[in-house]
Amino acid sequence: MARVARSLAAVLLAPRTHPRLGARVPRSRDERSCARLVSTSSLSAVNPDDDDDDVRSADVAVPVLIVGAGPVGLTLSALLSRFGVDHLVCERRARPSTHPQAHFVNNRTMEIFRPVLGLGASIARSQPPLEHWRRFVYCTGMARGVELGRVDHFDDGTHDGTHHDDDDDRHHREVSPASVAHFGQHRLVPELLQRAYALHPRGRDGFITGATLTDVVTRSPTASEGASEGGAGKGRVTARLALAGFNRADDPNDSTLSVDADVLVAADGANSRVRDSSLVRMTGTPAMQHLVNVHFTSQTLASQLVSDDRAAMLYFVFNPDVVAVVVAHDLRNGEFVAQIPFFPPHQSLERDFSRRQCAALLEAAANGGTNGGNECALDDLEVRSVRAWTMSAEVADRFVTGNSRVVLCGDAAHRFPPAGGFGMNTGIQDAHALAWRIATWRAVEAATTRPETFVHGEESSRARLDSSDPDVVRARLMSSYERERRPVAVGNTRLSVANFDQVLEVPAALGLPRAAASVLVDAVPLWLPESIRRDVVRAGLAVGRAQCGSLLVGDNPVGNARRAAVAEMCNNQSKGGAGGGTDGGTLRLQFPAEDLGFGYDEGAKGPRTPPRWTKDAGVAGAAAPTHPPNALVVGARVPHAWLTVLESSGDPAKICGVVSTLDVSEPGVWDGPDGDGRVARKGPRPGEGDVRGTKGKSGGRHVVFSLIAGDWDGGKGAAELASTLRAAAPAGVAVRVCVVSSSLSDVSSIDDVSSDEWTMRAVDGDGRWRAALVDAGADVATAAVLVRPDAHVAWVGSLEFGNRRLDAGYGSATGRAGLGGAGGDERGGCVDAMRRCLGLVG
Ligand SMILES: Cc1cc2nc3c(=O)[nH]c(=O)nc-3n(C[C@H](O)[C@H](O)[C@H](O)COP(=O)(O)OP(=O)(O)OC[C@H]3O[C@@H](n4cnc5c(N)ncnc54)[C@H](O)[C@@H]3O)c2cc1C
Repeated sequence: MARVARSLAAVLLAPRTHPRLGARVPRSRDERSCARLVSTSSLSAVNPDDDDDDVRSADVAVPVLIVGAGPVGLTLSALLSRFGVDHLVCERRARPSTHPQAHFVNNRTMEIFRPVLGLGASIARSQPPLEHWRRFVYCTGMARGVELGRVDHFDDGTHDGTHHDDDDDRHHREVSPASVAHFGQHRLVPELLQRAYALHPRGRDGFITGATLTDVVTRSPTASEGASEGGAGKGRVTARLALAGFNRADDPNDSTLSVDADVLVAADGANSRVRDSSLVRMTGTPAMQHLVNVHFTSQTLASQLVSDDRAAMLYFVFNPDVVAVVVAHDLRNGEFVAQIPFFPPHQSLERDFSRRQCAALLEAAANGGTNGGNECALDDLEVRSVRAWTMSAEVADRFVTGNSRVVLCGDAAHRFPPAGGFGMNTGIQDAHALAWRIATWRAVEAATTRPETFVHGEESSRARLDSSDPDVVRARLMSSYERERRPVAVGNTRLSVANFDQVLEVPAALGLPRAAASVLVDAVPLWLPESIRRDVVRAGLAVGRAQCGSLLVGDNPVGNARRAAVAEMCNNQSKGGAGGGTDGGTLRLQFPAEDLGFGYDEGAKGPRTPPRWTKDAGVAGAAAPTHPPNALVVGARVPHAWLTVLESSGDPAKICGVVSTLDVSEPGVWDGPDGDGRVARKGPRPGEGDVRGTKGKSGGRHVVFSLIAGDWDGGKGAAELASTLRAAAPAGVAVRVCVVSSSLSDVSSIDDVSSDEWTMRAVDGDGRWRAALVDAGADVATAAVLVRPDAHVAWVGSLEFGNRRLDAGYGSATGRAGLGGAGGDERGGCVDAMRRCLGLVG
C-alpha cells in the first residue's frame, strides 16, 4: 500500500483528536491547506453552526484536487507546483501502469516539458535514436515477408530530435526550440511522477495513491453567499474517495475519505468518473473499433529489423494469419506493442487472445506467414500484457461544470483515435492552458486576503486594490479555458478520425475494404451459441485476410496492381514530406499546423491552414483555427525566435544568455540554442524570486505576461507600456518586458530601461523575430507583442500610442487587437487584453 495513503490514513484513523466525520471544514484559506491537515491535523475545529446536513463535511480541504495521476494529471501537478499552487493528487493505482499506450510526443508538448525540470531534454536523451523511428513500414511481415512500401517522415529536413548539428536540425529549429519525440507513456509517466514529487510544495505528501474517486458533490452557493456572474459563488465541491485497504477507526465498514476542494480537476481518463458524476455528456462516436494491445519483447526481432535496415516506428502488417499495427517502442531493448482488431461480443480476450494465441499471432506478424523454413525464430518472445480497448471519437459537451469548480482535461474531456498521436498531447496542452488560470485565480484570491502582497512595487499593488471577486475571476478563467480548449479538442478529434480513415486506405487497396469486417460481425446473430459465433467470425476474417497471401505477393495482375497501389501511396506521402502530405498518401506522423499552430481566437485574421478533415465526425461544435506554426497571429502560439539576452546595463553590452521568445515568461528556461537544458545565465533569473509576502504560502512564483517590443524611442516606449500594464495587473501577476534590438550595435542606443529584474534587453540573434514581424506587416522598431503565460499571443500593436489604431497597418494583417478585443488607443487595448485574459473583466 502506498506510503502516502498510509500516512494520510494514520492521521485520519488515529484516535480522534482529529475531526469526527460531520465536522465542518474550516473555510479560511490557510486552514484549507491539506499540508496542514496531513502534517498538523488542523481540522480539529468543529463549527457548531454548521447546518449543511445534506452534504457530509470533508475530512480534507484543499484548494485544488486533481483526480488521476496519468500524464495529464501529473503535468498539471508539476505546472501548478511551479506556480506555487498547493494541491492534492489522488490516483486509484498504487503505481504507474507498465502497459504502453501513447508514444509520440508532439512538438508543443515537448516545448511545455522543457521547463519542467528539464523533462524535455531528458526525454530527448532517453528516447531511441531517430534512425529507429523515422519510418512507417507497410509489409506482409516485419522481419520476413514482402515490404509493400515505406515512408520516411523526416526526409524533408525536419528535426531529428537527437542530433543538433546537421542541416535537418537547423531547419526544424526555425519553428521550435524543441523536437518531437518517440517515448512510451509507460516510461514518461514515472518520469513525470518524479518531477511532480520534486516540485510539489509538500513533496510526496501531495499525492494519495490507492485512492479511487467514487462520487462528486457540488454544493451551490447559499442565498447568503450569493451566486454571481457565470454561476460563480462560494459553494464548493466535495469528492468522495475510496482508500484501498483502509477502514475508518470510527466505522470499520467505511474506507472512504471526503475531500473538499475549491476546484476539482478531472484528469481521470476516458472513463472519467468525475465526468459521469457531473452528468457531462460526450458527443461523437463512442465505439469506432475494438482492438487488443499486446505488449511484448523480443530482442531477436529488434536486432533483425535493425540489421536488415527495416527499423521503423510503425509496421502495418497484412498477411493471411494476422492484420496488425505493430509499434516498435524501443528497438534497443526489443519492446513492441501489437494492435490487433478485436470483435466482441463474438470474441473474448480469454478465448481468443491467450498468451499462447498472442505469441502465435506475433510470430506470424514477424514472419508474414510461413516462409519455407526462412522464419525469424523468436525464441526470446515474451508476451508482457494483453489489454482490450475501444477506439472512440468523442468530446465532452462542457469542460467546466459545478459552479465553475469542476474542470475536465485530457481523456476525461476528449478521446480520439490514436492515429496522428493527438490524445495525450492534447491533454497535456489542456493542463498547460489550465495551470496558469488556476494560478491567476489563486493570486487574485491571495491578493484579496493579503493586501500586502505585490510584485512590481507598492504603487501597483494599490492600483489593483479594486480587486475583483476571486469567485467571479475563477468563473471567467474557467469559462475561457473551455472556450479555448474545447474547439482544439473538436478539431483534433476530427483530424484523428480523418487520419484513421487514411490508415484504412492501405488495407482497402489490398482488397480489405473497411466495411467488410463490420458487415461480417453485424451479420452474425447473437442468438447463436458463442462457440459457433466465434467460429463463423474467425472463418470470415480468415477469408478476408487470404487476400494478403499468395495473391498479393505473387506475380499476378491482381497482386502486382495492389502492391503498386500501396507503393504509390507511400511515394505520394513521401513527396508531401513530414508536414505536407498529399491526397492519395498514407498516414502522416507530423502535423505542424495542428501541433504548433492552433489558435484561440476564432475572429483573428492572418494566415490559416485549411483543416485536414472534411467531416464533422459526429462531434458537435466549432473547431479551433490553425495557422502556419510561426505566424504572428493573435490567439496563436507566439512565433519562436532565439533572442540573445544582454546584461541589464553596460556598453558594450555583455551577452548573458539565450532565450526563445516562447520562454520569455518562463523564469527557468535559459537554454543554449542546442536545447540541452544548459543554463546560460548565472545567478537568479528574472522572476525567480518570491512574490514579496507570499513566500512559502500560496505562491512563490508569478503568473508572468511578457511584452516583447521593439527598441523604438530608445526603449522608452516599451518601458512605458510595461509600466501601464503593471499598474493594471493584480498582485501575483508580473509583466516582463523584453526590448529587442535588431543587432548588437543598436543596443547602445537603448536608454537604461533595464534596471530591474522584470526588464531585459535582447538582440534578435538570427533575424527570425524580425521575419515574423515583417510577415505580419509590422514595423520592427515599434511593434509590441503581449504574450500570455502559456506563450499564446494576447495582443499585437504599436508603441506609438494613439498615432495608429490597430485596424490600420499591420493591425489588419494580424486581425483583432487581442484576445481582449480592440478598443480605444493602443495602450488601452493592450491593458484591456491583459485584464480580459486574467478574468478581471468580463
Ligand atoms: C494504443 C494507444 C496508442 C496511443 N498513442 C498515442 C500517441 O502516440 N500520442 C498521444 O498523444 N496519445 C496517444 N494515445 C492516447 C493516450 O494514451 C491518452 O490520451 C492518455 O493516456 C490520456 O492521458 P490522461 O492522463 O488524460 O488519462 P489516463 O492516461 O487514462 O490517466 C488517468 C489516470 O486516472 C486514474 N483514474 C481513473 N479513474 C480514477 C478514479 N475514479 N479515481 C482515481 N484515479 C482514477 C487512472 O488510474 C489513470 O492513472 C494512445 C492511446 C492508445 C490506447
